[in-house]
Amino acid sequence: MKASTMKKGEIVVFPDNCNKKAPSFRSNKRISDQLLRSLLERHRTYGLEKIIPFPIEKIDVAEWVHLKCQFGCSQYNTNWCCPPASPDLEKVRAVLQEYSQALLLIGSRQCKDFYLNNAKRRAEQVRSWKEVVGIERQLFLQGYDKAISLVSGSCALCKKCTYPETCRFPKERRPPIEAFSIDLIGTLKNLGISTPVAQNTDDTFNYYAIILLE
Ligand code: SF4
Repeated sequence: MKASTMKKGEIVVFPDNCNKKAPSFRSNKRISDQLLRSLLERHRTYGLEKIIPFPIEKIDVAEWVHLKCQFGCSQYNTNWCCPPASPDLEKVRAVLQEYSQALLLIGSRQCKDFYLNNAKRRAEQVRSWKEVVGIERQLFLQGYDKAISLVSGSCALCKKCTYPETCRFPKERRPPIEAFSIDLIGTLKNLGISTPVAQNTDDTFNYYAIILLE
């Protein structure tokens, strides 16, 4: 019976087969090499070099990551995308159970003024954010409706985060990997990837983002 033909107060009995699972919009399949290649080609403007698919079980989460945010990061309690505004470890574990695969995005850049020029650093960060969120959007359009990005670095879309006042761009903001209590180095090790720490400001350094998928 169509909703428009129902009378007010009428009890509607659904047919027996209404419990059958409707075909999902989700792809729930291994992401194709062809799609990965086209995403990389389309979004490599700002230094993105690799996109690596991997099973969600390879992601390492740990309490100590939160500790590093709380003691040692200037963004703690000052940014909507960072602790304590981001999900706690229990919530993160529950969220990860709802995903089956992920993409690791690896880019590299050089920023000699990393510690000296905030405006330049922020501009670079917003560019890589655009790249990652652009890929997330493409994935959504391809049927990966649960795709969500965990980006590199705390949200820098505004010069100064409005936290704890209302966020200016709630649709655009994404949490950094560490705000999800993800041990990035441990996760990279699980994937057989070693990542040397940049020692000098002249060194090229890698940045990483993760997109969760089902
Ligand atoms: S969009 Fe602006 S206000 Fe919102 S979390 Fe990012 S920096 Fe903060």
